[in-house]
Amino acid sequence: MAELTQSVTRLIEELAKLPGIGKKSAERLAYHILRIHRNEALSLADAIRAVKDSIQYCRKCYNLAEGEECSICRDPSRQQDLLCVVEQPRDLMALEQAGVYRGLYHVLLGRIAPLEGIGAEQLTIEALVRRVKEGNFQEVIMATNPTVEGDGTALYISQLLSGLPVRITRLARGITSGSMLEFANKEILADAISGRRAF
Ligand SMILES: [Zn+2]
Repeated sequence: MAELTQSVTRLIEELAKLPGIGKKSAERLAYHILRIHRNEALSLADAIRAVKDSIQYCRKCYNLAEGEECSICRDPSRQQDLLCVVEQPRDLMALEQAGVYRGLYHVLLGRIAPLEGIGAEQLTIEALVRRVKEGNFQEVIMATNPTVEGDGTALYISQLLSGLPVRITRLARGITSGSMLEFANKEILADAISGRRAF
């Protein structure tokens, strides 16, 4: 019984590390997992293992990918001279679901946040600048979140790109300041993309 307690405690501790899951929720989930059928529980474990074994960051754009390049970079029908810069893969997903953007992306994997000790060098900014220098992009759209840090990151990047022969734009301000792209609805995102303006 002592061993069972130890493994349950471990499960609770692991679940409690997930974002938005406090100690109480972790306990509730752990007891749920104990109660459900073995196959069902192991299918969750397998799904976690599969995602960690098969998913990596795209070597071009840092989107999530199965294999070296993501499905967007591998798609020849995407507009190759248009690049949209987002903070996270989930922002990319939100824009994809809005269904109006047909260019390529670059995922920063975060935003510059001095208070959290996150600087430009921890993001994929260097790779972005190299990509724009070496590529044939006509336009780079800054689609960071409309927060102080997202705006600061976009400004920083736009300064780095300013000498290059590329048009830099930003999303229209349909999205409320301080809000997150991933929570904006499709219509607002579609408007933000189509109404984009010079940075
Ligand atoms: Zn990619």
